[in-house]
Amino acid sequence: MRILIVEDEPTLGKQLKSTLEGAGYAVDLSVDGEDGHYMGSTENYDAIILDLGLPEIDGLTVLNRWRKEGRKFPVFVLTARDSWSDKVAGLDAGADDYLAKPFRTEELIARLRALIRRASGNASSELSVGDVRLDTRSGRVTLDGQPVKMTAQEYKLLSYLMHHKGKVVSRTELIEHIYDQDFDRDSNTIEVFVTRIRKKLGQDVISTIRGLGYSLEEPVS
Ligand code: CA
Repeated sequence: MRILIVEDEPTLGKQLKSTLEGAGYAVDLSVDGEDGHYMGSTENYDAIILDLGLPEIDGLTVLNRWRKEGRKFPVFVLTARDSWSDKVAGLDAGADDYLAKPFRTEELIARLRALIRRASGNASSELSVGDVRLDTRSGRVTLDGQPVKMTAQEYKLLSYLMHHKGKVVSRTELIEHIYDQDFDRDSNTIEVFVTRIRKKLGQDVISTIRGLGYSLEEPVS
């Protein structure tokens, strides 16, 4: 899952980026409205955290532009101004959730997880396929109830596929959603991660759809 943070306060922006990376997300950080708008229009994000008071272009305008362009990713609005009119304007512009500063990072992460889950059509915070379970709250993966150690990249890949269970996901889509902008992207590494995940969780857990990509399917028993 890949997140864009658009936040001009350097300390808060960096702190959010590192916290979200620690929680298993690929994260890009943008520090003004113009760059933030461009990133959101050209890259594929699973959610965006958007501050309203931004240099260059304000957050509400950025959000309005994305929605007019048909960008549907969930947007989480942050603002220092805790007023009803700001909340209403943000929600009217197409925000999916709202948090006033100062806030607790734990609350932001919990609500962000819920947003991403709902956007991909998952009601529960625990995702499962066959005997494999992935708890999006703790970042833990189990097989038959036994914990399985995953590297950060393996977890990101598995989490993306589990959020999109039953759909065919191309390598390109995986690359776009598990790496941040600065990462040296190599599509061959996707195959390597898939092989490692199969070794840990069983050969059948991820199906290769020739020429199209990968898919996680509920096993037929
Ligand atoms: Ca600001």
